[in-house]
Amino acid sequence: MSLIEYIISLYAPHNCIACDAETDTLLCPHCVDILSVVPPRCYRCKTVNRGIKTCNSCRSNTPISHVYVATYYDDESARRLLHLVKYGRARAGVQSMADCIMPRLQGMPVEAVLVPVPTASSRVRQRGFDQSVLLAREISARTGRPVAHFLARLGQAHQVGAGRAERITHLKGAFRPLHTRSIRGTYVVLVDDVLTTGATLETAARVLKAAGATQVDAIVFAQAG
Ligand SMILES: [Zn+2]
Ligand SMILES: [Zn+2]
Repeated sequence: MSLIEYIISLYAPHNCIACDAETDTLLCPHCVDILSVVPPRCYRCKTVNRGIKTCNSCRSNTPISHVYVATYYDDESARRLLHLVKYGRARAGVQSMADCIMPRLQGMPVEAVLVPVPTASSRVRQRGFDQSVLLAREISARTGRPVAHFLARLGQAHQVGAGRAERITHLKGAFRPLHTRSIRGTYVVLVDDVLTTGATLETAARVLKAAGATQVDAIVFAQAG
């Protein structure tokens, strides 16, 4: 998208960013329907299976049991949508992300609790919002599953004065659990916008499992590759 197109898109809230049709959000229902569908597969080795289950051989390397994925990060509309959300079109953009995710959530257990994966805090301060939190709220409104803020991101404030070795530890364990009494016995579904290596989700899942979560799944809008 050129700069001019981008600026126009900011001031034309009622046109689909992909086909220009009139719509209430950023992607019209037709363009939501034609987003590339990720086949049911293990999110780690990408072996296609009948569900969205982590396969047995990957299961020993990850605490995450299932990952619901809306689409591919390579999809042009998905990338454009994420870009617009990050640069200010949060509300309408998050609604479109949820439109894409909803059809993939069949089978999500009723007892699931949605836990947004917090974005690094300096980026949230710059933007004024955390898109994972907004996305979790939108999915919550549509599915009736509650949102719980069980994770805090260890940001720069926590590293002030820390030595190099400590800082590395902080980056490795980039989350700490919150409300640990409520985490115990909970079926957690993490919510994040993009899945690349899976390292962030897996770190978050390990923290929650260690705090007593019985199962950790995840919902992501777009997966790279
Ligand atoms: Zn469209
Ligand atoms: Zn696998």
